[in-house]
Amino acid sequence: MSIKVKGNPFPEGYTCIRCGKCCLYRHFMMTLSATSEDVSRWKREERYDILKYVSTISPDVHDLWVKNGEESHRCPFVRKDRGKPTYRCGIYETRPEVCKGYPHGKKCLNWQNLDEER
Ligand code: SF4
Ligand code: SF4
Repeated sequence: MSIKVKGNPFPEGYTCIRCGKCCLYRHFMMTLSATSEDVSRWKREERYDILKYVSTISPDVHDLWVKNGEESHRCPFVRKDRGKPTYRCGIYETRPEVCKGYPHGKKCLNWQNLDEER
């Protein structure tokens, strides 16, 4: 789930409606990895709750989100808003770099619905 950080990561006219699909999508989760800076920051912040889902394969490759040796089907930090159909990131302030830029100027996983709503 990406909210604007530096510039808009969405194509023009699109915005995040916080449907949560990206953070709940197994195949997308399997593509996620953290940067070495993410891992260093989490260590500095003593975020062992996050680090326990990181599998370091080499000094520069940190697989996300791994639980008991297997990729999680959904991000362990995605949270549903109470009484609403929307979701939020439970570690927003320190989320990995890859999440900050999503969907990297392309249409996100909810692009069909977004098209219908326009
Ligand atoms: S799938 Fe798209 S609209 Fe839905 S939460 Fe992710 S970025 Fe936002
Ligand atoms: S860290 Fe946050 S933005 Fe990234 S996949 Fe998890 S819930 Fe989504």
